[in-house]
Amino acid sequence: MCEGTDFKLVINFGENPLVNSLIEKEDLDKQEPTFPLVVRQCQNCHLVQVTDIVDSHEIYKNVDYLYFSGDMPNLKEYFAQFAGEIKKYMGEDDLIVEIGSNDGIFLDFFKNRLGVDPASNVVVRALKNGIPTIADFFSERLARTIKREYGTAKVIGGSNCIAHLNDLRDLMEGVVELLADDGVFFVECNYWGGMVQNNNYALIYHDHFSYFSLQNWIDFLKGYGMTVFDATVTPAQGGSLRLFACKDGRAKTERFQDLVQYETDTNLNTYDTCIEYRIAVKREAKNLKGLIKGLKDSGKTIAGYGAAAKGFSVLKLAGIDQTHISYFVDDSPAKQGKYTPVTHIPVISRDKAQEKLPDYFFITAPNYEQVIIEKEKAKGYEGKFITVDCRII
Ligand SMILES: [Zn+2]
Repeated sequence: MCEGTDFKLVINFGENPLVNSLIEKEDLDKQEPTFPLVVRQCQNCHLVQVTDIVDSHEIYKNVDYLYFSGDMPNLKEYFAQFAGEIKKYMGEDDLIVEIGSNDGIFLDFFKNRLGVDPASNVVVRALKNGIPTIADFFSERLARTIKREYGTAKVIGGSNCIAHLNDLRDLMEGVVELLADDGVFFVECNYWGGMVQNNNYALIYHDHFSYFSLQNWIDFLKGYGMTVFDATVTPAQGGSLRLFACKDGRAKTERFQDLVQYETDTNLNTYDTCIEYRIAVKREAKNLKGLIKGLKDSGKTIAGYGAAAKGFSVLKLAGIDQTHISYFVDDSPAKQGKYTPVTHIPVISRDKAQEKLPDYFFITAPNYEQVIIEKEKAKGYEGKFITVDCRII
C-alpha cells in the first residue's frame, strides 16, 4: 500500500507448496515446488502482508485454480443479500464491474455487468453461464480499455480477491479511472481484526498477499482522493471486512465510526498486536497437534473434511500430516481423485468415504462447520468432529 521498506516479522510458516494446487496421481513422485511463506508488517502503513511474493501467474494461469464459487454451499444466498445492498447505489441499467468475479455467482444478480478474473478455467465456466467476463488481472491499463468500450462504472468492487492482488496501487489507479464520479467502490476482504480476535491463521497462504484492517484502507484510499464511508464485519470466511468508498465524500455511517473506534481501542494496527498474535497462534497450533496425535495414538481414525487452502496452512503450522489423516472428503468434483501437496493425502468423494468412515472428521474450514455437521447427521454418520480451534463435537 505504500513504498515502505521497513518490515517486522509477524509469523514465519517456513517453506510451503501452493495450497490450491492438488496433485495428480501420476505426478506424485515428481519434485514439488515450495515457496517461503513469511508474514510481516510494514512499519510505515501498518499493512500486514506476505513479503515473498509468488508470481501470480504461477497461482492462476498455469494451473487449474480449484475454487469455483458456485460449488460452495450457502454462497448463493449470501451474494443475493449482498447484491440487494449494492443495488441501493445504482440504477437498474448502470454498469457494475466485479474484480475476481470467479464463475459469475454474484454478477448473476445484475443486468449490466462485466467480470474480470485471471483464472481462465473459472472464466470459461462464467461464460458458459452467460456472464461476460475478461480473463485477466484488473489493472489501470485494462480499466482504460473497459471505459473506452463501456463508459464509466457506477459500481466497482471485489469480494475475497483483493488480497490476491500484489499491485494494489495499480488496482486503485484502475478503479479511479473507471469509476463514475458519483459511483461506489466496494471491497470485501479478509479482516486482520477478526484474525487477531479469533487467533485465526487458516487464511494465511500464498494466494493471500495482504491481511487488512479498516484503518489500512482509510489511509490508502485517501491517497486516491477517495473516502471510506461505510464498513462492517460480515460472517463470510469466519469474519470478513466489507467496506464502501466514494469520490464524492458522503456522510460516514455509524457502524463505520464504531469499527474505527474498535481498532483504536484494541491497538489493532500496532506491532505489539502482531507479536501477541504470533504467540497465540503458535499455542493454538500446538494444542491442535496434541489433540489429534493423542486420538491417533489411542487407535482412532481421522479423516479431513474439505480439501481447502485454509486447511492446509493449519496442517502445516501444526505439523499434522498423512500419518494422522487417512483421507480428505471434498464435495468439489474437480478435487476428487487428487492428492494434497507434500503430504499426499488422497481426496475422495463423500460416497467413497462411506466404505471407510473415520471415528473423527477433522473440519478444516471453520466457516462450513455447521453445514458439514448437519449434513453428516442427516447421512447417519455416528462419529465425532474435530474443529481447528480444538473442540470435539
Ligand atoms: Zn506500507
